[in-house]
Amino acid sequence: MGAGPGDPGLLTALALHALARADVIAYDALVDPRILRLARPGAALENAGKRGGRPSPSQPDISARLIRLARAGKRVLRLKGGDPCVFGRGAEEALALAKADIPFRIVPGITAGIGGLAYAGIPVTHRDTNSAVTFLTGHDSDGQVPGGLDWNAIARGAPVLVLYMASRHLVRIAERLMAAGRRPDEPTAIISKATTPEQSVLVSTLGRIVKERVDIPVPAIAVVGWVVALRSNLDWVGALEQHLCKPS
Ligand code: SAH
Repeated sequence: MGAGPGDPGLLTALALHALARADVIAYDALVDPRILRLARPGAALENAGKRGGRPSPSQPDISARLIRLARAGKRVLRLKGGDPCVFGRGAEEALALAKADIPFRIVPGITAGIGGLAYAGIPVTHRDTNSAVTFLTGHDSDGQVPGGLDWNAIARGAPVLVLYMASRHLVRIAERLMAAGRRPDEPTAIISKATTPEQSVLVSTLGRIVKERVDIPVPAIAVVGWVVALRSNLDWVGALEQHLCKPS
């Protein structure tokens, strides 16, 4: 099940129902603590992400644990940030369940690359700017800039790029995009801790990202494309904050 990017208001009705009924909830590090508080009292909460400095359980260990719990008759909720099948290994775990003949359902969630952009006032598409959008990960399973991606093709064919897990390699990715023809003045935004009370948005350009090498609080999504410029009129979170802080 997807927990969305942070704000508990972005949970689906199915997600709320599952939280109220699960016996065991195995959650990932990215799941907002406010969402775990919606669990049924008495539900066992298991952290399947990093555990206080100890190494995280491996993917086969997590899948084996889910299968064991289900075979013991537990109603198990596997809770992941955003959408479980968008850079979330949801498919790997579901395939393991299918192989073990464990019945399951997949509950989609709002992915950070959609919900996070909405909370930053950046539309994913606008008819004047893009009729396509590309979601990609900024590092592969070895932690490197994804070698399997054709950056020239991406730079030419993807007017809007939404980059997950990009903070570490953002400078190198920006360099590659510009080397492949993207303009240095192309608006680029970095949305950190999207949809949480600590959300911050940095608006820059591809060229400045390379020169300034800013520190980015994580988790963060980067967006490259002219849709970013629309934020100047669509930053509703900032407008609400200003409105609430105004002396009456
Ligand atoms: N399944 C998740 C993505 C997991 S990969 C989803 O659909 O959203 C982890 C990456 O997601 C992070 O490196 C970051 O790029 C992004 N991410 C997740 N939650 C975020 C948040 N609240 N704010 C900004 N980025 C977030």
